[in-house]
Amino acid sequence: MRSPAERRLAYQVELVRAKRLGAGITLDETWSDRLRARWPHRLNCEMSCGPGWSDIIEAVNELIDQEGVDPITFSQIKEKFGGLRQYWHGLDPVGRIDALIDAAEEISEGMCERCGRPSKMRRSGGPGGYIHSACDDHAIRGSAIIRVKTEKIGRGVFRIRATKIEDGDDS
Ligand SMILES: [Zn+2]
Repeated sequence: MRSPAERRLAYQVELVRAKRLGAGITLDETWSDRLRARWPHRLNCEMSCGPGWSDIIEAVNELIDQEGVDPITFSQIKEKFGGLRQYWHGLDPVGRIDALIDAAEEISEGMCERCGRPSKMRRSGGPGGYIHSACDDHAIRGSAIIRVKTEKIGRGVFRIRATKIEDGDDS
């Protein structure tokens, strides 16, 4: 079941996507420059995930604007174990930023990192292989569909358990 933060973020992602498509902006590698131009101070950091997640990151930042909290800054935004990881500094007295960042990770696991379409979690090359969130078109050949359980054991520290559900169906 989706948390309130996740529902709120999912809605904002749809708004961002609709606005982006309306403006004729396609998803490509320029996404990080585009977002950094909008939030130059907050996003003055490495942003190294695929363009498919840029609508999530843009939506996160629009919601942070709405929070009106003390300014926060991101220190790194990247993909890890198939999910969107956003590390940040700043004050979060009631945990709303944390909830938003967790919601973004949750949503990214169902959204293709390359193109933003609905995805599945996959692993290439057996146990210990590369875990990625991808649609059928962008899955690494031969990867298996997996269920990933992420256990947060500290801020920015995770334990990952991946269970194979089915083999990839490419031949
Ligand atoms: Zn895709």
